[in-house]
Amino acid sequence: MKRYAAYLLVCVCLFFCACANQGAVGTATPDAQQSPAASTPEPALTEPAPTFEPTRTAEPTLSPSAVAGAFVVECEDAINMRKEPSSRAELAGTLAKGERVRVMEYVKNYAYVETLSNGTKGYVIAGYLKPEEDVFDCETVKITDCYTYEQMRADMDALAAAYPALASVSIIGQSVRGVEIPALIMGEVNAPHHVLVQAAIHAREHMTSLLAMALSESWLRSGGNPQVCFHVIPMTNPDGVKISQEAAYDEHTRQLYVNDYAAGLTEAEGEEYLREWKANYNGVDINRNFDAMWESVNTVAAPSSGDYRGEAPESEPETQALVSYTRQYAFDATISYHATGSMIYWQFGPASEADKAAHALALVIGELAGYSVEFDDGKSFGGYKDWASSKLGIPSLTIEIGTRSAPLPEIDFYNIWLRNRFVFKTVAEWVKNA
Ligand SMILES: [Zn+2]
Repeated sequence: MKRYAAYLLVCVCLFFCACANQGAVGTATPDAQQSPAASTPEPALTEPAPTFEPTRTAEPTLSPSAVAGAFVVECEDAINMRKEPSSRAELAGTLAKGERVRVMEYVKNYAYVETLSNGTKGYVIAGYLKPEEDVFDCETVKITDCYTYEQMRADMDALAAAYPALASVSIIGQSVRGVEIPALIMGEVNAPHHVLVQAAIHAREHMTSLLAMALSESWLRSGGNPQVCFHVIPMTNPDGVKISQEAAYDEHTRQLYVNDYAAGLTEAEGEEYLREWKANYNGVDINRNFDAMWESVNTVAAPSSGDYRGEAPESEPETQALVSYTRQYAFDATISYHATGSMIYWQFGPASEADKAAHALALVIGELAGYSVEFDDGKSFGGYKDWASSKLGIPSLTIEIGTRSAPLPEIDFYNIWLRNRFVFKTVAEWVKNA
């Protein structure tokens, strides 16, 4: 078995050096084949080693969001590997906790991987893979599954101080509970192009705040773009995020729980109900509160942790803040970051010029990130994207980042980061050329 293990080790090493140094492949391969001759014969000697050979010689091309290093499976026991990127696809095997793989590309919720132990290939849910090398290059923003409002404000201030010529913080309004909703403005307010990015309008999707801030830091570090100004509102719903993150009941949220439970709207109990909170403090789903066919919104009857559209369009202060800020600049595009699924929505209502442009942008980002580009199902109304697109004619996207259910676990952030880290650059190029 020693020889078998040595062979594996060499193969593993080859995966890392093959791209950087072709010569190493040529010299290392004979060693790997010759070394067993010197060792004591054992059953492993007669095992057919060549199954490893093709995977080394036919190096797959990495997609733009993948990196060359190894990833480790982090799960309880094992995860399924499938032949196609779908939970209904045939099983290709299972990967045990600790198994090392190489990611070749991302497709929807899945990563297409090759195991380093035996070269088996297949699709696994991307949010179970942690890269061995440090792929996250931010200094101020730190990875966590609980990125709080306070941390976000501190990071915003730190970035504005570190990049005074490029970044400033502006308050665009207040939440139901009077919490300031800040925007990080990166670039010239007189720039010819403007992009609005908003995240965490749905409370439990607060990992989108971390992503928006990390993308902002990365954009600032790259020097930005004098022609494109980004307006990033990383936490549209700070009260809701606090409810989800702290999961501590007060009288009001307990009453909503009692109501939701009585109406058969939740089966969650205790903290779980609050962790899965989507709405603002009033129990209104802000992303069903915009004036975009609001009357058609499929709503629950009363304030709830999710899915209640409110008493009227723009009834909520968070909605009003986003509406008034969006009207202040001639935005070339808006991006709303959400967490459920790994896909992009671009369409709303009857075909329009804004939709056509949004579709083009969605295809570019979809290709970059490995997210599927989805048609509207015709059942969703009252969202920010819907309003910005139909009322103001701004090409607008919703990007869903997660591969697991919200609130997303910390490990899901790694694929999210790799897939999104060039989105600002890509959007900036697109709006300049559109
Ligand atoms: Zn959402």
